[in-house]
Amino acid sequence: MTRGPIIAIDGPAGAGKSTVARHLAQHFGLLNLETGAMYRAFALKAIECDQDFDDACALERLARDTEIRLESDRSANRVFLDGQDVTERIRDSDVTQGASRVSVHPGIRTWMVDLQRELGRRGGVVMEGRDIGTVVFPDADVKVFLDASPDARSQRRYEQNSGNGGIAAAAEPSMVFRELRERDERDRNRANSPLHPASDAVVIDSTTLSLTEVLARIEDLVRPLLDRRGPMEKVS
Ligand code: C5P
Repeated sequence: MTRGPIIAIDGPAGAGKSTVARHLAQHFGLLNLETGAMYRAFALKAIECDQDFDDACALERLARDTEIRLESDRSANRVFLDGQDVTERIRDSDVTQGASRVSVHPGIRTWMVDLQRELGRRGGVVMEGRDIGTVVFPDADVKVFLDASPDARSQRRYEQNSGNGGIAAAAEPSMVFRELRERDERDRNRANSPLHPASDAVVIDSTTLSLTEVLARIEDLVRPLLDRRGPMEKVS
């Protein structure tokens, strides 16, 4: 079976990956799969079970008793943890920090990567995360590494949180900045699948670019690929 195209969007927190991935999926008629939401859902499970984020063996046991489902259409992802919709709850800051702590463990990553490969198996997806172009789909058709300065990313995250309501909305800008730096440190320095651009990724620094400019650059990378392949098979 020939698979549909896979567009990998990787990069650090606050670089704009989710917004970009959503627009691309809508524009090109692809599915949008947000892999961070899966790590977040598992972090929530660990919180609910009062599980230590640093205890790899206990977390792996917990993973065997956990079902995470990502439902995607072209505009949004809904995440289900053991059958319960946790889409909103996983945006809170306790879960955000937890996600970057549970994701350092190799056993947890192997489980997640298998789930993500299964989800993207047929292609026709924009998959967004930290290791899509390096580990999950090293043969992705287009790989983008979206970056921005820490200041710009913190500012965007702060504005996003302020608009969302919830626990995160109460965080001061300095706290958002500190949490983002902590996550950056962990995501870039973990032993297993650290965050870095794939050697064949196109790196886009969006610090001084508008969303329209970022999208225009990526669309220029994706369009020739879809033109070569002909009309997309309908994905649902
Ligand atoms: O993208 P998002 O901020 O939702 O990701 C939450 C955390 O999940 C990240 O800080 C990172 O530690 C982890 N993650 C990962 N690999 C991915 C996606 C997310 O390690 N593919």
